[in-house]
Amino acid sequence: MKKNYIMTPGPVPISNEVLMEHGRPLMHHRSPEFSKVFTEVTDKLKKFMQTSGDVIVLTSSGTGAMEAAVTNAFCLGDKVLVVNTGNFGERFKKLANVFGLKVMSLDYEWGEAANPEDIKKLLDENPDIKGVMIQQSETSTGIINDIEAVSKIMKNHSALFIVDAISGIGASDLKVDSWGLDIVCGGSQKAISAPSGAAFISVSQKAWKQIEKSNIPKFYFDLIAAKKYVDKNPPQTPWTPGISIIVAMNKALDMFFEEGREAVYERHKVNALAVQKACEKLGLECLVKNPASRGVSVTSLKVPEGIDGKVLTKAMRAKYGVTIAGGQGKLTGLIFRIGHLGYVGIFDVLIAITALEFALKEQGWKFELGAGVVEAQKTFWENNYMSPKV
Ligand SMILES: *Cc1c(COP(=O)(O)O)cnc(C)c1O
Repeated sequence: MKKNYIMTPGPVPISNEVLMEHGRPLMHHRSPEFSKVFTEVTDKLKKFMQTSGDVIVLTSSGTGAMEAAVTNAFCLGDKVLVVNTGNFGERFKKLANVFGLKVMSLDYEWGEAANPEDIKKLLDENPDIKGVMIQQSETSTGIINDIEAVSKIMKNHSALFIVDAISGIGASDLKVDSWGLDIVCGGSQKAISAPSGAAFISVSQKAWKQIEKSNIPKFYFDLIAAKKYVDKNPPQTPWTPGISIIVAMNKALDMFFEEGREAVYERHKVNALAVQKACEKLGLECLVKNPASRGVSVTSLKVPEGIDGKVLTKAMRAKYGVTIAGGQGKLTGLIFRIGHLGYVGIFDVLIAITALEFALKEQGWKFELGAGVVEAQKTFWENNYMSPKV
């Protein structure tokens, strides 16, 4: 018998409550029943994103929201600055290039977070930059960028501030309105812990003004078309949406607010810390050297010498049922990543560390069996995490 556990930074585990909603008999998307759910989800997403502005739900994975940001916010040939801290920064670059933008790239070593001062310097030198794109949580490396610090710089510039918060929002704080974020992208299969297939995107008033002027060809991801349907009474989507996913998201968002924003952030923080400490105890090294740059959604670990990373992740999945992620892009084979995003409790972390220990032991890695698990337990205990709220 083998039970399966998903410990990746998307898709993430889904609660039984959300799965039950996902399995409800299908509603028609033009029915009053679905309109009610769609209105609720849109309102809850606004609260989730801490905005009173517009939030549009798209039926696509998170990349669809990134594409919508690029194709709606700009005109052909516009100059944009991509703050590139990893594989998803590369994705923004590719998208901007494909849709005819002039891309300026601020590249960092993978595993490092962006320095807001570098962004300020480039913006000061290039007043013609029309938009800045950045990841909040760069899932390929595990860093978190300081969006609040960058937002303070952006306030003095006319460029739109576009944030891919797909693996960040809901795990750590992101205040769309008070930080003045113009466009923020999210996805259903990350912190919200619903099935994959829906994305959401917030749009500020300043962004709408630039969107109205956009001349980049687009059809499915036309935000003005989507907004016209959202403004109908009752609100709708222009095309058939991922009905069951949206129904599931409605429940998942309820669960987020029932647990409480601060409690969710705290759970992510403690889980991330427990994974980091356990892995360091086992003699592994975090890819992200600076603890202040480590995000709470995923922990990236270097594959140590003498260990085959592919064999390790395969053993964890095939023998022990724990799916973790390998490296992406140029980190393929060099790191592995343990996700602790969304519906992940402390005992999921203990299971993942146990499986990791077995998989390391199989390859002859030297450590005392249980050392990582004990370290994780201690982290939970010392952080007062064993209280009734768990
Ligand atoms: C998951 C993720 C995406 C989008 O990936 P999809 O597979 O399209 O959902 C984009 N950016 C970041 C930072 C992500 O973690």
